[in-house]
Amino acid sequence: MKFNNVLKRIDLDNNYSNGWRPQDKCGVFAIYNYQGPDNAALITYLGLLALQHRGQESAGMAFNCEQGINHIKGMGLVDHVFPRDTLFAIDSKTILGHVRYSTTGSSFVVNAQPLVARSADQSGISLAHNGNLTNTRRLHNKLLGDGHIFHTTSDTEIILSYLSRFKRRGLVSAVQNAMNIIEGAYSAVVLDEEQLVAFRDPNGFRPLMIGCLGEAFIFASETAALDTVGASFIREVEPGEIVTAGPKGLSSYKQVSDSESSLCVFEHVYFSRPDSILGGQSVYGFRKKVGSLLARRITAGLDMVIPSPDSGVSAAIGLAESLNLPMEWAIHRNSYLGRTFIEPTQNEREMAVRLKFNPVKDLITGRRVAIVDDSLVRGTTARVLAALLRKSGAAEVHLCIASPPYKHPCYYGIDIPLARDLAALDSDLNYLAAEIGADSITFAELSDLYSAVGKEQHKLCSACFTGLYPKLGKTRGKVS
Ligand code: SF4
Repeated sequence: MKFNNVLKRIDLDNNYSNGWRPQDKCGVFAIYNYQGPDNAALITYLGLLALQHRGQESAGMAFNCEQGINHIKGMGLVDHVFPRDTLFAIDSKTILGHVRYSTTGSSFVVNAQPLVARSADQSGISLAHNGNLTNTRRLHNKLLGDGHIFHTTSDTEIILSYLSRFKRRGLVSAVQNAMNIIEGAYSAVVLDEEQLVAFRDPNGFRPLMIGCLGEAFIFASETAALDTVGASFIREVEPGEIVTAGPKGLSSYKQVSDSESSLCVFEHVYFSRPDSILGGQSVYGFRKKVGSLLARRITAGLDMVIPSPDSGVSAAIGLAESLNLPMEWAIHRNSYLGRTFIEPTQNEREMAVRLKFNPVKDLITGRRVAIVDDSLVRGTTARVLAALLRKSGAAEVHLCIASPPYKHPCYYGIDIPLARDLAALDSDLNYLAAEIGADSITFAELSDLYSAVGKEQHKLCSACFTGLYPKLGKTRGKVS
């Protein structure tokens, strides 16, 4: 009997031990004309490492070389795909990089990005995309009818296909025309022989930043990636905007006639790094503020606040400060676990949990504790932590969630389980608390999130909490 038939893989970060968590689709990092002392590929590598939390399935870079656009990509983490020899063999000043988590299209290397399309004259373009198109099926069928042969199962190939078709009139024109056809969420960067072109959907669901490093320009999904490579933040690519980095510097083309900015609120709640800046505000500051607002909603008597490692830390700090309670790191998380191979029986799952989390019993015994997390989706982690705290002698366990109940599917690039798997689908909080094994459960309200982000309600997408999906913005019409 083969090993693989007996043992099934458990990803300790994304499976039983940690519970399911919402998964973003991808991070983008691109640098134009880097002339500094380091290798541009090294800069891109560091930028992608800084964005690794946005996608761990595959990584890739595309770049210009003598034969035209070339690319290196593979399955796994950035440091696995780009060992030192590979990295230093990339001799290019302009590089487009990507880390991927799949929401549309399976997890195969053929779907790893950047995707590359070559013309008969060997000229080419390469595309890296964060988001999810909402008219994929219709465009896929149309392209098939037009004779296109798909090489991937990713919606990114649809964008690439339209860019290739329209490219003879110039890359900016191609992007403008493609934006008139595609719908949904896309923060993307395309590379040709001369330039990088960044473009963002009219709603701006996913972030996209512009920075500079000396004379070089950078596009990146988060400011933390700019900080990591020592670059300065210039501004965000605006919803519906096209920005080129080329021989004449940066140029901007506004492409929107009807847009309603709808940045995904989950970028603040969970996806983005706490050290990133979104809309001029620190993500850490947002999470801490929501924790302090959540404190006003808690009625239970408490002795101590414990963060769910590591996702609940910022909110737990705000909550503990507001309630004037000690915050203790009473659950230790083993950060050195990658993927392991364990048969997924109940016993093995419990062992995986013990591998991942271990409580500091002395802190917990006899105490009334609040365990704080950023969100509740399936509730797997909450169940695990509540059980661990009770087993360690906690007198009471109160679950505090720094976002509203997650109840509706996302169509804009976030992988969310089927409705039947959502823990908070039933709004009876007493039942939910009992089912999770807690004495009570308190959620932040949507108004807390808007208050913490300091934006008007229409500036954020919060559809997975409300079921009210933003109207998709339109582009300006046909552009030649
Ligand atoms: S539905 Fe939810 S996860 Fe999806 S973009 Fe809107 S806020 Fe983000």
